[in-house]
Amino acid sequence: MKVNLMDMSLAELAEFVEEAGEKPFRAKQIFQWIYRGAAGFDEMTDLSKALRAKLEERAEIKCLDIETVQTSSDGTGKYLFRTHDGNFIESVFMKYKYGNSVCISSQAGCAMGCSFCASGIGGLVRDLTAGEMADQIISIERDTGEKISHIVVMGTGEPFNNYGALTKFLDMVHAEEGLNIGLRNITVSTCGIIPVMEQFADDYPQVNLAISLHAPNDEIRNEIMPVSRKFPLNELIAACREHVDKTGRRITFEYALIRGVNDSDDAIRQLANLLRGMICHVNLIPLNDVKESGLRGSSRLRAGEIAEFLEGRGIPCTVRRELGSDIDAACGQLRLNRMKD
Ligand code: SAH
Repeated sequence: MKVNLMDMSLAELAEFVEEAGEKPFRAKQIFQWIYRGAAGFDEMTDLSKALRAKLEERAEIKCLDIETVQTSSDGTGKYLFRTHDGNFIESVFMKYKYGNSVCISSQAGCAMGCSFCASGIGGLVRDLTAGEMADQIISIERDTGEKISHIVVMGTGEPFNNYGALTKFLDMVHAEEGLNIGLRNITVSTCGIIPVMEQFADDYPQVNLAISLHAPNDEIRNEIMPVSRKFPLNELIAACREHVDKTGRRITFEYALIRGVNDSDDAIRQLANLLRGMICHVNLIPLNDVKESGLRGSSRLRAGEIAEFLEGRGIPCTVRRELGSDIDAACGQLRLNRMKD
């Protein structure tokens, strides 16, 4: 069977090249070609014809196929990819003043079952490989002709339930010969798998951590995020404080505002108390309506009031700018619509 070079780290590729009887520096060349977006060996023009033929025989570069792209008037691009085994995964390309950012998926489907999220509706199908995570970015660079400078792992899936592939992916995109993206330009989001958060602080202290908080107490959180029954809120917040201490970096809390569920004055007061004194930032996101959940987002007016209240309590926060809301860019929506076809 042919091996898939897309899933190899530079070190693994070096081993493969050596076993094939080639000079070690070839590994670097091939690795660079993959991250420059070469989809086949015939594009690797600085390799000899004989080497390309040898590679053709033993290896492949198994890429994602673009199923659909929807482009929004603000430049946001929503990509639906098909994996070689017929799964659909989605990524979003966003243009900001500071550069281009891609939001990638870490799993096909998700096991976490948050009630407001479209990604969990069909459950977990499988983990993505490191190559499939990286290829979301490589394919988007190829398709848009733009260089990506920032990555957020905030698409479908719980990255801390796929930690081996996540860390390999981080190493691949960070490598100078890979995408050469600084760790400080990468953000990983979790619903709060505490033991892995602790590991992550040791392994990647420079990578930004975002926590999907969405509730100020266990009562509300248990109702909308089943993971909270395993990792209660007080333990999660303690782990966050420890993370800030250990890494010296600010933590981001995502808080999707759900009308009548977590947006009352009382809930927001509790939220302010919960986060008091922590080096953090709250990202308020008026919930993108997902028909299946029956839940609705708070108004932007309400979001503004809440932001003002939190700022007044010394908690920095922003109301997330809505990019691509005209194209179903909310987490998991594109994939869900495709599954229903
Ligand atoms: N499992 C990880 C990574 C997914 S990140 C995590 O939970 O952090 C995707 C983010 O989008 C999460 O903060 C998630 O809670 C949020 N989200 C999911 N559905 C949403 C919706 N309908 N509206 C707004 N945000 C949503």
